[in-house]
Amino acid sequence: MRLNSVTLAAALTLSASTLAAQNPNLQSIANDRYTRSHDYDLVHQRIVVRDFNWDSLSFTGSVASTLIALRPALDSVILDAGVLLGIKRVAGNSNATLRTSRHGDTLVVYLGRPAAFHDTVRFTIDYGGRVENGRGLTFIKERPHAPRQIWSQGEDHDNHYWFPTYDFPNDKMTWELDVTVPAGFMAVSNGALASDTKDAGGTRTLRWREDRPSATYLVSLVVAPLARIHDAWKGIPVDYYVYHSDSALASPLFHVTPDMIDVYSRLTGVPYPWQKYAQTTVADFFGGMENVSATTLVDWLPDPKAYQDRPWYQYILIPHELAHQWFGDFVTTANWANMWLNEGFAEFMPGQYWRQKVGPRLQQDYYLDEYRQFMQIDARRRMPLASSGSNNIYPKGALVLEMLRNYLGDERFWVGIHRYLTTHAFGNAITDDLRQSVLESTGENLDWFWDEWIYSAGYPEFTVTSSYNAEARRVSVVVKQTQRDTLKADSTGMRYVVPETFRMPVTIRVGTSSGSDVVRTTWIRQRDDTIAVDGVASSPTMIVFDDGNHILKKLTFDQPTALLATQLRNDDNLWNRWWVIQQLAARTTDAAAQSALADAATGSDYFLTRMQAAAALGGMPPDVALPALTKALRDTSSQVRQAAVEALGRVDGAAALPLVRATWRSDASYVVRAAALSALVRLDSTGRRALILEALRIPSYRDAIQNAAIGAAARSGDTTFVGPLQELIGEQQVPSFGLAALAMRGSQRALDLLVSDLNDARPYVRDWALTAIVQSLGPTRGLPALKAALPALKYPETRAAAERAVRQLEQEAAKPGQQ
Ligand SMILES: [Zn+2]
Repeated sequence: MRLNSVTLAAALTLSASTLAAQNPNLQSIANDRYTRSHDYDLVHQRIVVRDFNWDSLSFTGSVASTLIALRPALDSVILDAGVLLGIKRVAGNSNATLRTSRHGDTLVVYLGRPAAFHDTVRFTIDYGGRVENGRGLTFIKERPHAPRQIWSQGEDHDNHYWFPTYDFPNDKMTWELDVTVPAGFMAVSNGALASDTKDAGGTRTLRWREDRPSATYLVSLVVAPLARIHDAWKGIPVDYYVYHSDSALASPLFHVTPDMIDVYSRLTGVPYPWQKYAQTTVADFFGGMENVSATTLVDWLPDPKAYQDRPWYQYILIPHELAHQWFGDFVTTANWANMWLNEGFAEFMPGQYWRQKVGPRLQQDYYLDEYRQFMQIDARRRMPLASSGSNNIYPKGALVLEMLRNYLGDERFWVGIHRYLTTHAFGNAITDDLRQSVLESTGENLDWFWDEWIYSAGYPEFTVTSSYNAEARRVSVVVKQTQRDTLKADSTGMRYVVPETFRMPVTIRVGTSSGSDVVRTTWIRQRDDTIAVDGVASSPTMIVFDDGNHILKKLTFDQPTALLATQLRNDDNLWNRWWVIQQLAARTTDAAAQSALADAATGSDYFLTRMQAAAALGGMPPDVALPALTKALRDTSSQVRQAAVEALGRVDGAAALPLVRATWRSDASYVVRAAALSALVRLDSTGRRALILEALRIPSYRDAIQNAAIGAAARSGDTTFVGPLQELIGEQQVPSFGLAALAMRGSQRALDLLVSDLNDARPYVRDWALTAIVQSLGPTRGLPALKAALPALKYPETRAAAERAVRQLEQEAAKPGQQ
C-alpha cells in the first residue's frame, strides 16, 4: 500500500495516537506472538458476485470454499464475514444444508460430520452482499472525470466485508472470481482472465483465476467502464486499465512498468512471479494497493506538461506497488507487526530501480526524501521498525535496507534477499526469517544490526569535533553519541529501547591543499570514540564525517565556513551536501556562507543541491540572494525554479516583484506557477484579488494552481471570494474546504452555502461539503451548523452520514481539552 503524502501524514498521526498497546520485547516480534491461530488451511475459494446496486450498496454473492482440517474432529469452520452479509444458505456435501451461526463479523459453519485431521472440507455460502460504503468495497456514482465504479480494498482486514473468508495474512489460497457487470463495464481482478462472456440479458461475466497461492487481503475487484492498454514483459501481459477519457495518458505514465519488472527480476534473481500484471486506476483512492498481479491505483494520470515536475505517481507509486509483487505478495508478512517486511522493501526498491536506470545521484535523492520523512515521523513518536503498529515502516524500512546493502555490498545483499524470497516463496515470513536468510547466504552474523536498527528504536545522534596536529600530520576526530533513551513504557508496561551505542563502520574523508584526500574507514564501537586520520600533510581543507552517508543519523559538527564551502563543492553525496547547506543557511551574516550558497544555487551539478541552496538564499541579504535567484529562475529544473520563486517571495518585495510576476506569466511548469502565485499574493497587495480570481480558473495537473489560489483566497479572509469559490463547487473537493476556511473566519454566507451544498443534487458535492464541515469547522462551528441543518436534509444517505458526523463531533467536543 502507498498513501499519498497528505493522507499519509493524517494516517500516521492517527496511528501514533491510537495504537496504544505495543510490545517492544524483541522476542515477541521475532516469534509468532502476533500471528493468528486457525484450525484449518484455506486452500481455494470460488467467489461469484453480481447484481451490483449503486443505490443500496448491495450485490448477490456466493463463495465455494475448499479447506483442509488442521486438527482431528474439526466440527465447525470459523470464517470472517462482515455482519452486513446476509447469509442465505450454506450447502455442504451432496448439497446438504449446513447449520450456521453469526457472531458479529464472524460466521460459524457447522460441518455435517466432523472432519479428520487433514481431511478436505468443501461448502458453498450463498449470501446477499451489502457494505458500508468504503468498507471492503467502495461504490462511486458517476461524476466529472470519474465514471460509475466499484473497487475493493482488502488490506489490512477488510475483504471479509464483501466475501466470507479467512481474513489474516498467514494463510494463502488460490481463487477464482466470477463477476457479472453491466454492459459496457469491465471487471479487473487477480490472475489470468479465464473467460469473458456476454450474457443473454446484456450483462457481461468475466472469470478471473488466481492459481498461485496468495493472502486473502490481496483479492481484488475493480468494476468500471475501462479501456485496456496492453503491454508485455517477456510474454507476460502487462495491462493498464484506465477510464476511456484517460486512454491517451496511460502509455506515457505506465510504459515504464516492463523495464521496472525487468530490473526487479534481475536484482532479486526471482523473475516476476505472477501470470500477468495489471494496473487499474480508480477514483477517491488513497494512493496505491498491491493486490496480487492486479494493482489498484489512484486516477491522477499526469498530463504531458506534468512530467517536468517529476510526478510522484511515476517516481514512487508505480515502482512501490510493483515491488510488492515480490515483497508482500510473493513473500508475505505472517502478521502485521512485521509489516515492514512488506512496506520497507516496497519503499526501498524504487531507489534501487532509479539507481539502475539513472545512477547514484537519483538513488541518493530518493533516500534523502525518505530520510526527511522519517525524521518528521520519529519526532512525533519513536518506535522500532519491527513492532506492532510501527509508524516508520516505510521510510525507516527503506533507509535501513539501504544501509544493509551498503554494509554488505551488492553481491552479498542481493544473494541474501534472493534466499529470503525463495525460501519463503508463496509463503509467509517474519523479521527473523530475513535475518536468517542473510546469515545463511553471507555467513556473517548480523545480530547487532538487527538489534540496533530493526528491533530497537531511534538512530545515533553524533556530536563530532576535530583538531589538526601539524607535527604529527594527524587529524583527530572525536565522535560522541548523544542519543538519549527517554521512551516511556506503553500501556502494557513494555518499553522500547534506544541503543546507548550504535556500532557501525564509518569513513572519514579529509581534504588537503595538495589535492588528494586522505580517507580512513574504521568502526565506531563506543559511545565516545576518537578516530585518528594520519598522513595529513597540511591543514585540512574539508573534513567529512561518514563519507558516502552510510549511517542513518543526525549530525552536529561545527566547522569553519571555508571547510563547509569546500565540502559543498566537492562532496558527491547528496545527504552530505544537504547537511552542509543547513549549516551554511544558519550563517546569515557570513559572506563566505552566502557566496557558497549562491554558487551552489547556480552552479551545482545536481538539481536537488541547486534547489536546496536556492531555498536557503531566501534567508540571505538581497544583494547576494537576488542575482543568484534571478539566475536560478532560468534553471532547466522546475524544482529549482520553484524554490527560487518561493525564496524571492521572502527576499525583497520591490526588486522581486517583476521577476515573480514574469515567472507567473510565462513559466511552463504547473508547480512553479503555483509557487509564483503564492509569492505574488504576498508581494502584490493591489493586484492580489484579480490574480486569485484569474488563477481559480486555470487548469493544472492535480489542480496545483487552482488549489494555490483557493489557499490564498482562504488565507485572505476576504469574503468576496465566497461567490467565486461556490462556482467551483463540484469540479473538485478543495473549493468546499476553501468555503469552510472562510466560514471559519466568520463568513456566515460561506457557511450557509456549504450547508446548502448538503442538498445538492450531486452526491459527491454533498459528500465533499460534509467532509469540509466536519474536518475544517469541527465541534465548535461545524457541530451547531450540522445539527441545525439535519431536519432539512432531503437525501437519506446524506442525512445518515450527517447524523454519524454529528455523533462524531459530539464525542470530540466531549473530550477533555476540547472547547
Ligand atoms: Zn506499500
